[in-house]
Order: sequence, then structure tokens, then C-alpha cells
Amino acid sequence: MRAILLLLLLVWPSAALTQPPDRPYRGKLTVQQLDPVRLAAVCQRQVGLFQVLAGCAIVGRGWCRVYLHSLQDTNALRHEIAHCNGWRHP
Ligand SMILES: [Zn+2]
Repeated sequence: MRAILLLLLLVWPSAALTQPPDRPYRGKLTVQQLDPVRLAAVCQRQVGLFQVLAGCAIVGRGWCRVYLHSLQDTNALRHEIAHCNGWRHP
């Protein structure tokens, strides 16, 4: 139990800091699920080779394309929609 609490204390502050704002995207949004190989190929230019990928967003003027490893991953979807809205990693 003590180990679990310590882990939560270690993880929670950084998770809170990187939590993006949660608001809907107003432009034309498409969300597509891709297998890991295709996801890496599509997202490679956006995030770099060595990052673990849950998804990425490619943002244009008035449109945003979100690519996810899993459409069930609501945290990743929220994260990428924040990028659609202009959010950048702190
Ligand atoms: Zn991100």
C-alpha cells in the first residue's frame, strides 16, 4: 500500500502539469484509428521517432486530423484535440 501511495505521489504532479485544456474543436475534425506501424509512419514527422505513440494530431487552417492507436483511448483523444486547439506541451 505504501508503495502505491508513493507511486501516485511521484506520478500525479507531472500528470497534472501536462493535462491539456478540455474544450471541443470548432473546425472540421476527423479521427482515425491506425495500427501501430501506420500510426508511427503518419505521426513520425509530428513527434519524432523515439516517443511512445498513443496518437497525434495534424493541424491545418480550420481542420484537424487526429490519428489514434485506439479510439477507446479517451485521454489520448482529449490530448490530441487540445493540440487541434493550439495547445502545446509545457
Ligand atoms: Zn501531445
